[in-house]
Amino acid sequence: MRRVYLDNNATTPVLPDVFEAMRPYFGDHFGNASSIHHQGHETRAAVERARDSVATLLGCRPAEVVLTSGGTEADNLAIFGLVDPDDHVITSTIEHHAVLNSCKHLEERGVEVTYLPVNGRGLVDPDDVRRALRSNTKLVTIMMANNETGVLQPVEEIGKICAEADVYFHTDAVQAASKVPIRVKEIGCDLLSISGHKFHGPQGIGALYVRKGTTLEPLFYGGSHERSRRAGTENVAGIVGLGKAAELAVKAFESKEDREMALLRDRLENAILENVEAAGVNGEGAPRVPNTSNIYLDYIEGEAMVIALDLKGLAVSTGAACSSGAIEPSHVLTAMGLRPDRARASIRFSLGKQNTAEDVDFAIELVPASVARLRELSPLYRKPSVLQS
Ligand code: PLP
Repeated sequence: MRRVYLDNNATTPVLPDVFEAMRPYFGDHFGNASSIHHQGHETRAAVERARDSVATLLGCRPAEVVLTSGGTEADNLAIFGLVDPDDHVITSTIEHHAVLNSCKHLEERGVEVTYLPVNGRGLVDPDDVRRALRSNTKLVTIMMANNETGVLQPVEEIGKICAEADVYFHTDAVQAASKVPIRVKEIGCDLLSISGHKFHGPQGIGALYVRKGTTLEPLFYGGSHERSRRAGTENVAGIVGLGKAAELAVKAFESKEDREMALLRDRLENAILENVEAAGVNGEGAPRVPNTSNIYLDYIEGEAMVIALDLKGLAVSTGAACSSGAIEPSHVLTAMGLRPDRARASIRFSLGKQNTAEDVDFAIELVPASVARLRELSPLYRKPSVLQS
């Protein structure tokens, strides 16, 4: 059975070159990167080469890269590393749970948190950031690209506001890395999170950019790894994979692969909209990363659609989360003002480097037919002529 994977915002396959780069570090090159013998020097050099590649991807110095176990840890290190009980934090309602639940936990510790709303296109208004600032605001944490919609936030404007107010600015760039260029100096952020498995590196490895001079309280206590910012023996193979993925991402920008991906995504999106009634793009009109399309298909249940497509060989996803047995509509889509039923009827398509035009054709063929079948079962659905009247 043919299987096409269009859920690359959940995770991406490791590229063959990344896997090959990692392979020796499961075999001959097994040393602990902190050891002073030959085996240790070998892996230390590999870790530092990977750090250089990550620094090139982000436009920062290698010493400003702290290697972590992924995006969640990078977000947690940024937030818990900075914030004290009397501080105030500003974030948005559409953050990933790695940030949202960290902020919820801060509130339990007595920290005041402001959750900024977004408009119908999923954008935070930088003026809202300015207005929310207080004398005790320590940190603003607003994501660069949303994982469900791909909408890009005005991080450079927010960065300027934070710099003027002398407030730390963290951005979760987990869904932006390798999809749009990142220059930390242009963003003006102090902290920025990335995760290897979102851009064809391995799972369980990521990094936090920490601007020189920013002091963070570590999450873990142990050895003095990562300049005492992240204790624990380095995951050398993972780090090498992250470095290789970063290097390939830089090359892909040079060969304008991001534009090709945007064309593929647009073809998929337009074909679905042309062939399905009562459908639209969530976040339409906002700047978006080139690989993501979140589409509402009214009168269907997103979960049912994901299962129906999976049975035909197409992997996509909803932004919905299952809590206590009930499917909650996505917090991102409802924050954008979607009715719960429309939020539940939304599907995310996310492309990766491995996807081809044929993959997109496969989806274009399957989606309208599956929507039609599910709508036939929906008591709420009437034929288009009735819908329009
Ligand atoms: N932040 C965003 C925006 C994400 O999409 C994700 C993963 O889905 C994370 C953070 C967490 O990253 P990781 O899976 O590496 O812990």
